[in-house]
Amino acid sequence: MVIKVIAFDLDDTLWAVKPVIIRAEQRLDSWLKTHVPELRYDVHSMRELRHELLRQEPELGKKITELRRRIIQQAMRMSDISSRRATHLANEAIEVFLAARNDIQFFAGALASLEELSKRYVLGALSNGNADIRRIGLEGIFTFAFSAEIVGAPKPDPRLFHAALAHTRTQPTEMVYVGDDPKLDIDAAKRVGLHTIWMKNPERIEAGETVADEAIDDISDLPAAVNRLHEKVGI
Ligand SMILES: [Mg+2]
Repeated sequence: MVIKVIAFDLDDTLWAVKPVIIRAEQRLDSWLKTHVPELRYDVHSMRELRHELLRQEPELGKKITELRRRIIQQAMRMSDISSRRATHLANEAIEVFLAARNDIQFFAGALASLEELSKRYVLGALSNGNADIRRIGLEGIFTFAFSAEIVGAPKPDPRLFHAALAHTRTQPTEMVYVGDDPKLDIDAAKRVGLHTIWMKNPERIEAGETVADEAIDDISDLPAAVNRLHEKVGI
């Protein structure tokens, strides 16, 4: 078997996600204050509504963008904003959030690594998050992208990996998965039979059940790690 496809986790593998979410929530908050001054919630107090929404509709737990939109909508309804206006404003608000959420800064060397690898492999994204490869400018490099929201099941569920295998018509041993989370990325991909490369994340120190085939400290080292893996598994 030879490696044909490399699939990527996105958040904390190609960029740091925490500062992005903090800034996206700040932008959402200031947009709400300007455009919906009668709203009795800010982005922090809105979180109180999350639990009740999830209790009523547990399926929303698998749809992070829809959950966020519904929380905003509910906050508006609780502020006596009409149903129709709440729906309209929540749609606008989620756009503000998503625009900021996709305003990411790649780790140094990430784009160069991806460009180099794209000359020899099919690349794609498999993410539990709501980053959008088109907005981020990766659509020329990635040929596929599946999110947990699309397939209806976040990692470690195998469905994201199965979607990528079906889409690229490859066997698990022909695919490598690159991710930062020892459990959600490395263990989950191994269970499906993929090769794995762990992008070490100092904030995720809890070991998984399996050991990744390769580990890197810096995304610039990815092409070399893929080469090593290729030599190990190639025939
Ligand atoms: Mg990640």
